[in-house]
Amino acid sequence: MSSSSDFAIEIQKVQDSKISDVDFDNITFGNTFTDYMLVCDFKNGEWQKPIIKPYEPFLIDPSAKVFHYGQAIFEGMKAYKDEHDEVWLFRPDENFHRFNKSAVRMAMPEVPEVVFMEGLKTIIDLERNWVKSGLGNTLYIRPFMIAIGSGVIAQPSTQYRFMIILSPAKSYYSGAVKVVIADHYSRAANGGIGAAKAAGNYSAQFYPTKLANDKGFQQIIWTDDATHTKLEEAGTMNVFFRINDTLYTAPTSERILDGVTRKSIIALAKREGIDVQERSVLVDEIVAAAQNSTLKEIFGAGTAAVVSPIAAFSYQEIEYVLPVIEDSFASQLKDKLTKIQYKLAEDTFGWTV
Ligand code: PMP
Repeated sequence: MSSSSDFAIEIQKVQDSKISDVDFDNITFGNTFTDYMLVCDFKNGEWQKPIIKPYEPFLIDPSAKVFHYGQAIFEGMKAYKDEHDEVWLFRPDENFHRFNKSAVRMAMPEVPEVVFMEGLKTIIDLERNWVKSGLGNTLYIRPFMIAIGSGVIAQPSTQYRFMIILSPAKSYYSGAVKVVIADHYSRAANGGIGAAKAAGNYSAQFYPTKLANDKGFQQIIWTDDATHTKLEEAGTMNVFFRINDTLYTAPTSERILDGVTRKSIIALAKREGIDVQERSVLVDEIVAAAQNSTLKEIFGAGTAAVVSPIAAFSYQEIEYVLPVIEDSFASQLKDKLTKIQYKLAEDTFGWTV
């Protein structure tokens, strides 16, 4: 298949929508799904026609490569509703390009732009009632791809399934997040898959994160695997450090996910006249800044929580508590970003679609 008309999307309608069964005021993140899913298979060396059909389980062979060799990638993005009931996506081209970058790294076929973008717009248009208006209400979008070819031989699959599923979500206030700075376990390594949104990057974090949870910390800030001296990112967020009035964040690399929220926060902060420096941030530097009270803020940035302030960090069993700051950079930048996403402020960057 080559021309975009070959990818015209077939829609199989549901009998009855599930929407009236959903209590939108009491929704937990990631557990409720909409009426439809998009499915597009890759076989015989080419992408097949995409179909939007009722959300339902499906059968795959027990020997499918995804189960044994973890060939699986995903994306996470959101749709927002403005005051005029229009639905908006935020920088979806960034997610599309990152998805295909992950695909290449995992020896999977790249998804055609028309399948990803038109698929996204068509399914969201169909499900627009699931996007509730009001700040904090969103529809979380999960595009993903798995290797469905069978055979317990450690080789890339020849068959894949690309899907998009949708989950209504309220933006969550994560409370006072306490983090541990990693000094033993690693999330990623040079030459590894850290920069890909590959499923295995997340399961590899579950055990060290559980150890941190048992000690009363919610997340880990990962450090470089070779020396554990440079601060990198958290489980599903990039991380910013404010020392005096300068904002620091690690440069992206093959160990760090190139976050859409991260690059948006950098652009917004620069526009506000904040000094932002993308450079390696050393653990020693942050510990010293905490000790001499020049460390004002640490916050995570990612699609799910948007901006998540960090209240304290622990390093080698010593806990450092961050000050509570009025009008923090975290709250100012979160406010600026969400206003653009919900079309409550002019989008001079052209980020909303
Ligand atoms: N780092 C990791 C490891 C992530 O999984 C995510 C979430 N996609 C992020 C950072 C933040 O990226 P984004 O702002 O694009 O959601």
